[in-house]
Amino acid sequence: MFEGRTLGYGLARSLFVFPFLALALLLIVLSGAHRSLSLDLLLSSYAVPSEAVTNSSCSAGSSTAEPPKDELLGGLMSVAFDGASCLSRHQSAWYRRKPSNHTPSPYLIRRLRRYEALHKKCGPNTKLYRKAVEQLVSGTSTAAAECNYVVWVPSDGLGNRIISIASAFLYALLNDKVLLLHRTDDMGDLFCEPFPETSWVLPSDFPVRYSWVLEKDHGYGNLLKNKLLSSDMDTANASLPAFLYLHLVHSNDEFDKMFYCEEGQQLLRKFSWLLLRSNQYFAPAFFLVPEFETELSLLFPEKTAVFHHLGTYLFHPSNTVWGYITRYYEAYLANAKSRLGIQIRLFRRAHFDSHSDYIIDCALTKRLLPNVNLTDTALPTITGAKPRSVLVTSLRSGYFEKLRSMYYEHATTTGEVISVHQPSHEEEQHSEKLNHNMKAFAEIYLLSLSDALITSPFSTFGYVAQGLGGLRPWLLVRPDDHDLCLHSTSMEPCFHFPPSYDCKARKKVDIGSVAPYLRHCEDFPHGVRLFD
Ligand code: GDP
Repeated sequence: MFEGRTLGYGLARSLFVFPFLALALLLIVLSGAHRSLSLDLLLSSYAVPSEAVTNSSCSAGSSTAEPPKDELLGGLMSVAFDGASCLSRHQSAWYRRKPSNHTPSPYLIRRLRRYEALHKKCGPNTKLYRKAVEQLVSGTSTAAAECNYVVWVPSDGLGNRIISIASAFLYALLNDKVLLLHRTDDMGDLFCEPFPETSWVLPSDFPVRYSWVLEKDHGYGNLLKNKLLSSDMDTANASLPAFLYLHLVHSNDEFDKMFYCEEGQQLLRKFSWLLLRSNQYFAPAFFLVPEFETELSLLFPEKTAVFHHLGTYLFHPSNTVWGYITRYYEAYLANAKSRLGIQIRLFRRAHFDSHSDYIIDCALTKRLLPNVNLTDTALPTITGAKPRSVLVTSLRSGYFEKLRSMYYEHATTTGEVISVHQPSHEEEQHSEKLNHNMKAFAEIYLLSLSDALITSPFSTFGYVAQGLGGLRPWLLVRPDDHDLCLHSTSMEPCFHFPPSYDCKARKKVDIGSVAPYLRHCEDFPHGVRLFD
């Protein structure tokens, strides 16, 4: 039965694709245009998922045809890219559940095109980049420079890195700066280039390398603390460092957090080069800076879609990671009636039996999965129907094995078949290894293709999956004694360690109560998250 269906898909693919390939090749030969026709086009039209092929083949003569998939993702993506250098850029739309109902604003699209032009003008290997580096080395950088840069430096695991890159990009966008990534070897082949005809990778001969000693002489917070820098100083006449280092990791102090104040933002504009190290989703803080208010409301009329848009725009899996994703999806998930993603991340030791029971209870009580009958061995199974798939991601395999055994050993009360899958179990975090990070990104992306998600509290791995997928997850937190898990009211990541200082009132405040669109996170009450 199952094999027959698989054969059916394969056959549909061949029937649909082969005549087109033959026709395309014939036209190339006849027109002599073979030299100019892009192989990418053929590749990208061939390598679409089985569901998509089936839909397309149906649509040929059917009035119930699906609308064409939106490869440019509502205009977020530039048309200036070619295909083969990054297959995911064009093919990702085919794998999404349905077109996103979070449409990017026309203003955001215009600003992205403007940013791309700036990046192309100032990016690595341009005259202006070389000039800016020379000025950095000679200590003559000026605020009036044509190109100003923010260099992102990695910290912690992949989820932390992705949310902080997205925040740094928003900072660059708001300040007309160019974002460059200090890409370590463990990130070598994870993402495609997001901006056309240029690169966001910091050239390896860049003269400054991050090390903690930077904090003393170049740390923005440290210089403020020692009164070597202040927002009202006459920067034209003061002797200033050639660049500043912004320490935006979770453990920074109130001086570092002056970055989030309007006067801090203005002071930073006087520097052409900023190095920024963060493991936080600090984008929500910009919503509290008065001078960005209008701009941000035009960029993001829907505040809960900030990461969704920035993440979808920036993070395209490299061809290698896309291979992991598409092979796994086609093998285990494409044929499913529905897909539930369960992301399990433990920050401290948990009792396995009670924790796995808790996760399963959450899925059952919220009707994300059907219950099983533990006693009746004669319950019928619906034959011929597609299974419902569960994708489990975890560093360990125990949770997956328990869930898979449960649906193998017992029939569901609905007669449905549940297939349970886990792509890898790496046992331990090894963020210093490229292949480990590739698997992590592939799994984050596969989770984002789910119809519903259960995620672990405080985990940025889960935040990225929910944000890319445009999903409000079920959070594994107990809201009260009666309920098991909680449906998040936002798909935004949580800013775990926000400032607690009201820049205008110059006093400590509860940052979760100063604006209606910023609330404490359900999974980590110290943090704040954007809401609509
Ligand atoms: P966080 O620590 O949960 O906020 O997420 P991070 O992504 O920043 O760091 C955790 C890292 O541990 C990931 O990037 C992976 O390297 C690894 N990891 C944790 N959970 C998983 C998982 O389910 N699958 C895989 N492949 N790696 C994981």
